[in-house]
Amino acid sequence: MEMKGAHGRILWVDLHSKSFREEQLPDEYYKKYLGGLGLGAKVCFDNIPKGADPMGPDNILGFLPGLLTATPTFFTGRVMAVGKSPLTGGWGDSNCGGSFPPAIKQAGFDGIFFKGMSEKPVYLFIDATTPALKMELRDAAHVWGRDTEATEEILKKECGGKVLCIGEAGEKLSLVSGMVCDGGRIAARSGLGAVMGVKKLKALVIKGNRKVDLHDSDAMKKLSSGFHKRFNRGFVLSKLNWGVILAGLVKFFARVPFSIRNEAFLWKQILRRYGTAGGGAFANEDGDSPVRNWRGSSWRDFPMRRALRISDNSIRKLEKKKFNCFACPLGCGGIMEIREGRFKTDRTHKPEYESTTSLGTLLLNDDLNSILEMNHMCNLSGMDTISAGGTLAFAADCFEAGILTEKDTGGLQLRWGNASAFIALLGMMIRREGLGDVLADGVRVASKKIGKGSEKYAIHAGGQELPMHDPRFDPGYGLAYEVDPTPGRHKIFSYFNAETMNIDRMLMGKTGSPVVLDREKFIYTGRGEFFALCTKFTHFCNSAGMCVFGLEVGADIPVFDWINALTGWNMSRDEFLKTGERIQTLRQAFNYREGIRPGDFRIPELVCGNPPLAHGPNRGRTLDMKSLVTDYYKAFGWDTASGRPSGERMRALGLEREEAQL
Ligand code: SF4
Repeated sequence: MEMKGAHGRILWVDLHSKSFREEQLPDEYYKKYLGGLGLGAKVCFDNIPKGADPMGPDNILGFLPGLLTATPTFFTGRVMAVGKSPLTGGWGDSNCGGSFPPAIKQAGFDGIFFKGMSEKPVYLFIDATTPALKMELRDAAHVWGRDTEATEEILKKECGGKVLCIGEAGEKLSLVSGMVCDGGRIAARSGLGAVMGVKKLKALVIKGNRKVDLHDSDAMKKLSSGFHKRFNRGFVLSKLNWGVILAGLVKFFARVPFSIRNEAFLWKQILRRYGTAGGGAFANEDGDSPVRNWRGSSWRDFPMRRALRISDNSIRKLEKKKFNCFACPLGCGGIMEIREGRFKTDRTHKPEYESTTSLGTLLLNDDLNSILEMNHMCNLSGMDTISAGGTLAFAADCFEAGILTEKDTGGLQLRWGNASAFIALLGMMIRREGLGDVLADGVRVASKKIGKGSEKYAIHAGGQELPMHDPRFDPGYGLAYEVDPTPGRHKIFSYFNAETMNIDRMLMGKTGSPVVLDREKFIYTGRGEFFALCTKFTHFCNSAGMCVFGLEVGADIPVFDWINALTGWNMSRDEFLKTGERIQTLRQAFNYREGIRPGDFRIPELVCGNPPLAHGPNRGRTLDMKSLVTDYYKAFGWDTASGRPSGERMRALGLEREEAQL
């Protein structure tokens, strides 16, 4: 390899033959796909046969740090899991932070890919602390059946190093399971925990001290120290009680036809002080949070006083210390205690906004202790909290409609807000007991099994439960849920993300107005190019290994310059964005090759405001999804009827070989 900044090789692990193979990658791959998501998409597209059973031996499960991970940069501690999703039947990816992400780089690889299936539970152990690399697939019988916290503890004692593992949900092949490190940082979406479970791969345990060569380490350090100074500006303001201040402001702004722009500077204070759950009360008040399985309204069903019980200061009070992922100067995470109940502990992870909303607002549950408990249960078992909450809400709706009865639930009264019943049902889902077995694969599978009209309560896109951002509040989310090749995802793009990332100022040369007219969000035509630009940037960042919150702190993160200093490429911003376009097109091509067509990921009519809500901040809104989707497809050159990326566009992106397979 001539280029600097990467190892230039990946590791293949055949779980059936228990063999290892190293593959050198051409320099060109890195320029075209960077690392992380992009490199994973390329390797999987080339190696997962069309029509492969996601739960069979032909599916490949890959883990890749980003190109910038484990280099002298900030916010770059992410690892991406990739493969064919058993949940959607198409492209799958999911990433997490924590302490594990740099481990693969430190072992001397840019990615590790598993194929085949093991007959017995195993874990991968790599010791790259000596010149001779040691790699083994070891018996995992003693940790199979153990939760993620215990597994990590046992394997760390046994081997040292960093651990990424599945829990009971992955072992029991729940299609809404993921993989966990540090007892609570989880790559939760796309159901890739089930792929790890069916391959009987319990964990990756890696210790290493390998480093990539840097093209210009002085330049990298200079860029990083400049960023760090900008990042630290204004933190004195994080002492303010932002949760309450914003909730009060939003009470006003939610009732007038304009709002203050979501400023990154402000968002940084919230993330630092509270974590993402700091936004819970104001998101609830302004209509961002879905309520009562998407059919309710915060103003009527879950007013501010209830939202404050599960948001900002209520959570902060229980925080024992901050948690930072690798290379993170912000630390939006935290370690908390649970004071009551079956899961008393002083070291559970602080729940994210997605979790407090899916296990709280969506269920009309304002009992914070129960949310912490359910969040902890999901972390220990490796179950996705968004999907878990969405599925519990689906069950509550079915119970209310008489589709599920006490006979089905084993006597549980699945009434809105009945926290103890939800905790019990979540436990049944994790263990696959009784009704829990029916629900353990998420709402699409459950509604097919239950029938009786339950489909109308199943809120998902292509099988993936929707995140906790209501498209009737921000239609950008709705579009992303429906058009991204991993449907139902909230960090691809939205108006909120575009504002906090400063997309207009950073990539479009605009000055940006501090006041945003609400009606701007509800113009449905001519939005394709804008959201395509956001997508390209997001996937470029996902391939660089960025935590998306690092882009939302208003400190002009030098992500393009870092990569050029790392590699010596001297690529322009537009060339990097073209990389993002290539990656998105390849993910779409993967789905097209699998036979997935545009309508397959359609979001429910209810979520589009059809019929519109009669009350609350989103009342009277009906989205024109058709126009949004059409413009987005056109911006990427995808056929609106079939979803096929155009041949001309693929060739312009250097995807000739891939195009030949469509
Ligand atoms: S901002 Fe939060 S999620 Fe992102 S790297 Fe830091 S601690 Fe991890």
